[in-house]
Amino acid sequence: MLKGFTHARLACGCRIGFREGVEGSPVTVVVETKSPGCLSTLHVRDLPLFDHREALRTPTRLLPPIEEDYEES
Ligand SMILES: [Zn+2]
Repeated sequence: MLKGFTHARLACGCRIGFREGVEGSPVTVVVETKSPGCLSTLHVRDLPLFDHREALRTPTRLLPPIEEDYEES
């Protein structure tokens, strides 16, 4: 579930919204307001930003665990 975090503003000025998606795509990011100064062709009003969701994934999943010795005392 999404709690208290439903909108954000990108660096280009576009306003995006987070909506609950379907299975396999838990969060859909859509552009709610296109910024007049935005030069990105990927930012189209009411169009989902699927690549943005990919960017939110944690890159640590492919790394080996490094916490084994952390709590040793
Ligand atoms: Zn934009």
